[in-house]
Amino acid sequence: MNDQAATGSCADNHNPGLLTMDEARTRIVSNIKPVNEQEEVGLWGALGRVLAEDILSPINVPPYTNSAMDGYALNSHGIEQGATLQVIGTAWAGKPFAGQIGKGECTRIMTGAVIPDGADAVVMQELVERKADTICLQRAVRAQENVRPAGEDLRAGGQALSKGQRIRPVELGLLASIGVAEVSVIRRPRVAIFCTGDELRSVGQSLEKGEIYDSNRYTLYSMLERLGVEIIDLGVIPDQPELLEKAFRDAMEGNDAVITTGGVSVGDADYVTGMLEKLGQIDFWKIAIKPGRPLAFGKLGDSQFFGLPGNPVSVMVTFYQFVQPALRRLMGEIPPPRILLQIPTVTALRKRPGRAEFQRGILENAADGTLQVRSTGHQGSGILRSMSEANCFIILTEDSSGVEAGDLVSVEPFHGLV
Ligand code: AMP
Ligand code: MG
Repeated sequence: MNDQAATGSCADNHNPGLLTMDEARTRIVSNIKPVNEQEEVGLWGALGRVLAEDILSPINVPPYTNSAMDGYALNSHGIEQGATLQVIGTAWAGKPFAGQIGKGECTRIMTGAVIPDGADAVVMQELVERKADTICLQRAVRAQENVRPAGEDLRAGGQALSKGQRIRPVELGLLASIGVAEVSVIRRPRVAIFCTGDELRSVGQSLEKGEIYDSNRYTLYSMLERLGVEIIDLGVIPDQPELLEKAFRDAMEGNDAVITTGGVSVGDADYVTGMLEKLGQIDFWKIAIKPGRPLAFGKLGDSQFFGLPGNPVSVMVTFYQFVQPALRRLMGEIPPPRILLQIPTVTALRKRPGRAEFQRGILENAADGTLQVRSTGHQGSGILRSMSEANCFIILTEDSSGVEAGDLVSVEPFHGLV
């Protein structure tokens, strides 16, 4: 049964045996065992990978006490407003001042330069009056003013990053800042994908009556690529038992996960269900969400299996809500927090009680700069344009019977994958 067909069914109001969204996600994620093989990668190849070990800093960052400003380095002890000091040299970033600062003396200093011996503060150049080789202070100076102590960012031996952290641009920069050239990361999971359906043609082919272009493989492939797994693309498989069985056998061989789209709904030929039961331990789940049921989940040999629905929006919703957290766990990643905002809706939203709905929304700034959300309009699970226009899910809970304009709704912004 697809989602459009389900709309209007009285079964929506009673859900015996339906799992809630949270139950299903918890069950799926807790069934996943993370990959534990590791490999060494150089920094340039580390973006998006997940750390297999804690990273301790081999050095202090910054490695030496230095100036946070362009100005004058001096000893603050006993210095009053109006004091006059002799400028005895310059400390550049990368070219320290070799001498010692004594009483009544200072050096010119640039941002990032080593604080010269004898100095304990830097006065901003805007706060002095310079005349030839002397400066006159316009106000008193406190010890440690504008001084960045060695190790204030990271102490030598201290923990810089944790096992399970995904390496983003900032972590790459941080690793470089402590001079680490190679890191141990968790092996990328191998994920095999294929789409099923006799009606599916590939871009470049012409369409006969009753045929459509396969779009799921493109959305699925690119979401997986953004997640950072290794993808084994087995293409489009027609609804024929022998071909499907071969595809399932190829997919489960040597891969950590298998993801398919289509062919798992009740209306499809029973052989898919039977075959999956023969090849592995698969549960067919009815989850109380819309769009996105039914979903199959389980093991095919040593691989995790995710059988997603065929409708293009359902594929993206179920991937985002179930497959993504499961694959992050498989990748060994510390789960990122789920970001749900309470935002007023500009549009009234219709809904029947029974299933949680992931309506597509546009999060935007109101005239006063605050956030508001509007619906993308018609919410059919085949309407991929609704995902393209959207930048968030508007999540309406199982028991909700719709909301009025101005009501607060739960909003989950898309980030990264979609
Ligand atoms: P199914 O779950 O196989 O019954 O498919 C449900 C709906 O999704 C049908 O309208 C299919 O034509 C459509 N569909 C299935 N697979 C794809 C695909 N790979 N790309 C686009 N639409 C699809
Ligand atoms: Mg089908």
